[in-house]
Amino acid sequence: MNAYDVIVIGSGTVGLSVALALSQKTALRIAILDIKKPVYHWSSENYSTRVSAISLASKKFLQTLSIWKTLAEKRVSPYRKMQVWDGEGDGSIDFDCEEIAETALGYIIEDDLLRSVLFDKIQQTNIQIIAPITLKDLFDRENHMECVSDDGKNFSAKLVIAADGARSWVRDYRRILMKTWSYHHIAIVATVKTELPHQQIAYQCFSAAGPLAFLPLQDPCTSSIVWSQISSKAEKLLMMTDEDFKLSLANALHHRLGKILSVSPRFSFPLQMRHVKNYVQPRLALIGDAAHTLHPLAGQGVNLGLADVDKLVNVIVEAIRKKQDFSSVQVLRRYERFRKAENFTMLAMMDVLKNLFATEMAVIKQLRNKGLSFVNQCHILKKFLINSAN
Ligand SMILES: Cc1cc2nc3c(=O)[nH]c(=O)nc-3n(C[C@H](O)[C@H](O)[C@H](O)COP(=O)(O)OP(=O)(O)OC[C@H]3O[C@@H](n4cnc5c(N)ncnc54)[C@H](O)[C@@H]3O)c2cc1C
Repeated sequence: MNAYDVIVIGSGTVGLSVALALSQKTALRIAILDIKKPVYHWSSENYSTRVSAISLASKKFLQTLSIWKTLAEKRVSPYRKMQVWDGEGDGSIDFDCEEIAETALGYIIEDDLLRSVLFDKIQQTNIQIIAPITLKDLFDRENHMECVSDDGKNFSAKLVIAADGARSWVRDYRRILMKTWSYHHIAIVATVKTELPHQQIAYQCFSAAGPLAFLPLQDPCTSSIVWSQISSKAEKLLMMTDEDFKLSLANALHHRLGKILSVSPRFSFPLQMRHVKNYVQPRLALIGDAAHTLHPLAGQGVNLGLADVDKLVNVIVEAIRKKQDFSSVQVLRRYERFRKAENFTMLAMMDVLKNLFATEMAVIKQLRNKGLSFVNQCHILKKFLINSAN
């Protein structure tokens, strides 16, 4: 039996972050188990298709992990402004980092880059990475958890942290109840080159069929797009030739960046809301996408996951300081109490926003446009919205 204090299942951004943060703040023996071998290909020559909008709070957290400097030296793309508008009316709202006396509203970071920098940092610690490994059992023994792989290996830990993503095996195996529904949207992601420079502005256009986001990358004329559309429309967009897709995309953005000059291969993700009823059990905690997934229209998935990590690690460190059992459900509930309420608020807001813009009711459309224009003129409200997203 291989014995650890903490086993993290999953080596995505959230799993790597929680393991690294724990190793920096405690003397716990930590292992990360993943079904796939972590191989992150990041090259400065191309942009990876998957990117995340990282909030200022997440930046601060990455600074505490001492990886921000490396990320910034490699490639992070700040966005200073954000333009949001109603594709079916004249309502719009502009956000500017100057309104909150900052130099950026947030940063676009390629997922592969973030994971590879986290992974390199982990190589300098005592954390053991065991991958690829397929788990088949997860037993709750009297005072530890026992993980068993399909080839008969056993691992024990006082605490298991499930960071195994949206289709969490741990969540299913432990039969943790979850609220879930489909958004009936598919997100199409790609990297595009545009005729006009983005000027470090993030663009977001809402229409009844779904939101379209252009996220500015370091190159002045390159953006990453997340185009969420009702499934039937998304499938048509995916089948289109590159030429037709580029035209549709420029139209959908109301030509704010001129013509679309080139588009990378497109990838698609069906979108689903998921939120577990309980984040914790004795000696088990769920974090990141294993606990919640939401519509990417506000780009908050990684940010919520990193906030989970921050809170869980603080709760564990505090328990160790007070000589309490850090894996007890009483201690872990402190993490759940903080994070469940905050994540629920964000999930609910995404639903309201998605439905508000999906409606065909003329009166709602009119109110929506007036509301956007009203907020746009109200500095205090805008400041509040920017701070809430951060
Ligand atoms: C189209 C789209 C756009 C998005 N844009 C943004 C954005 O702009 N900003 C933002 O903050 N978020 C965004 N998100 C959300 C974000 O990508 C996710 O929230 C984030 O990647 C989740 O990280 P994670 O580490 O929890 O899970 P994952 O990245 O899914 O990692 C899970 C890990 O667990 C491993 N694993 C899976 N099953 C097992 C198993 N049985 N045993 C062991 N290991 C296992 C996997 O191999 C993987 O390494 C977006 C999502 C989508 C779909």
